[in-house]
Amino acid sequence: MSELRECPACAMPTAADAPECEVCGYEFPEPKASFRPSVWLFVGLMLLFALPALRVVGCVG
Ligand SMILES: [Zn+2]
Repeated sequence: MSELRECPACAMPTAADAPECEVCGYEFPEPKASFRPSVWLFVGLMLLFALPALRVVGCVG
């Protein structure tokens, strides 16, 4: 299964995962690495687990 997207240069459908248009050779711009909520969710979970662990270490040390 391969998704198609319309080339902005020649308006022809081309493979979405192709780096450039198969018809006219138009190079698609790289998708920007935007804000990822999953990363912050991961950081939040790490803090939730890290804070109690630090407290335990502090009591022992
Ligand atoms: Zn094209």
